[in-house]
Amino acid sequence: MTQPKRAVVIGAGFGGIALAIRLQAGGHQTTLLEKRDKAGGRAYVYEDHGFVFDAGPTVITDPSALEELFTLAGRKMSDYVELLPVNPFYRLCWEDGSYFDYANDQDALDRQIHARNPADVEGYRRFLAYSKAVFEEGYLKLGAVPFLSFRDMLQAGPQLARLQAWTSVYGMVSRFIENEQLRQAFSFHSLLVGGNPFATSSIYTLIHALEREWGVWFPRGGTGALIKGMIKLFEDLGGRVELNAEVSRIDVQEGRARTVQLADGRQFAVDMVASNADVVHTYAKLLGHHPRGVRQGEALKRKRFSMSLFVLYFGLSKRHEQLRHHTVCFGQRYRGLIEEIFNHDTLADDFSLYLHAPCATDPSLAPPGCGSHYVLAPVPHLGNAEIDWTVEGPRYRDRIFDYLEQHYIPDLRRDLVTSRFITPFDFRDELNAHHGSAFSLEPILTQSAWFRPHNRDTTIPNLYLVGAGTHPGAGIPGVVGSAKATAGLMLSEARG
Ligand SMILES: Cc1cc2nc3c(=O)[nH]c(=O)nc-3n(C[C@H](O)[C@H](O)[C@H](O)COP(=O)(O)OP(=O)(O)OC[C@H]3O[C@@H](n4cnc5c(N)ncnc54)[C@H](O)[C@@H]3O)c2cc1C
Repeated sequence: MTQPKRAVVIGAGFGGIALAIRLQAGGHQTTLLEKRDKAGGRAYVYEDHGFVFDAGPTVITDPSALEELFTLAGRKMSDYVELLPVNPFYRLCWEDGSYFDYANDQDALDRQIHARNPADVEGYRRFLAYSKAVFEEGYLKLGAVPFLSFRDMLQAGPQLARLQAWTSVYGMVSRFIENEQLRQAFSFHSLLVGGNPFATSSIYTLIHALEREWGVWFPRGGTGALIKGMIKLFEDLGGRVELNAEVSRIDVQEGRARTVQLADGRQFAVDMVASNADVVHTYAKLLGHHPRGVRQGEALKRKRFSMSLFVLYFGLSKRHEQLRHHTVCFGQRYRGLIEEIFNHDTLADDFSLYLHAPCATDPSLAPPGCGSHYVLAPVPHLGNAEIDWTVEGPRYRDRIFDYLEQHYIPDLRRDLVTSRFITPFDFRDELNAHHGSAFSLEPILTQSAWFRPHNRDTTIPNLYLVGAGTHPGAGIPGVVGSAKATAGLMLSEARG
């Protein structure tokens, strides 16, 4: 029989909580240490004047990966949280007033594609077949497999070659689809996990097939209700959650992690420890006293990081029935704007936005008759553009409100009850994210799978990583998959 071990998980993001559930369900006494006053990480929740604002993830895909956490613990997810279907998945809008409702209805998709360019109906079928093939190889087979050795990477090589993984997402979509708006509609998905569609590997087209396979969902009560359900499951299993518990150091003696120290002086003895915190923070700060931390921290700082985000939360005294739950608002430029966001040192004059209107699915997130919203704009991370967001933030908010009033929400300011925003500074200071990146390391081929920081450290054998910075990467399915990969290693090593 396995001896129970003392496990600590640093950080209560989706990945950290999912890992903690798996370890606790596996019989190990697990403590989850979270710096902030609530669990969730990027999925934090703000509440102002009766409006509930999910801070981050809102598009819930692959519910089976979440369900699995409850099932392995002998529970039912529906006893903890209810997932509601979202239809259409997204409304994609352009400034010429046209829109595309992306839904799981082949006839409706065909009709809309045909109206733009008849030849693309057949092109879309071929694109979907490609994206399904990548989904099977890249997600179902390899999504939760830890790439610890280069041999694992070589084994995946033939599939990657067959799927032409060196092609960009946009490049691959363009092989099948001619119409520029449709190219945007089927290539923007990689932005949801921090990937530039013009640079990220076409393996990320798998997100399209993943959505078609399992749909898009939203928890009743918001993403925060899903986090609460997962935390309750962990505590029901006997796990311990410590909030306001900022880790300042992982102590290593005789080559193994021995204690985790908090900024307030408390200490936790560990047999194994996993960090869900930012990977640069983990190595450069928490292990900054140890040669491994210094070396790996420096190496990681040289990698490419995903863009940051400006996110503006606002509550209106009116419900806007014309808004769908998820709207992507494409601006005039696509390639040029993305190029500026990822590679330039200034803030572009224009923007493309994602608009969240969750009351379309669950009106309980705002007072009766009112609407909760957020709108986000991808912006350069702080390593690329040294913008003073204390000055730029209010200006940027006003520009976005102007734009929304003009194109999507008339009289927005007249009906405004409350608003707040977060900037790259908040990602850096609240979440300890390197350069204020919203999605950690950029998901390019040379920073994926074996090339990404491994789920287990190569030098300190009882130190593990989980979350967006490790394999497979950002997004809820990604980090929940990383928890499965990391838990597999930890549980098998605990068995000896
Ligand atoms: C605005 C936004 C919208 C998004 N939308 C979607 C979406 O619709 N669908 C989707 O699938 N994905 C989406 N994503 C991506 C997804 O939210 C993230 O990839 C995922 O939630 C990251 O989870 P994680 O496990 O890496 O942990 P994180 O959420 O990064 O959490 C890490 C935790 O570690 C804590 N921490 C850091 N340092 C310490 C320390 N020293 N001591 C203790 N704790 C510490 C932090 O406070 C934080 O709680 C979105 C992201 C953002 C920012």
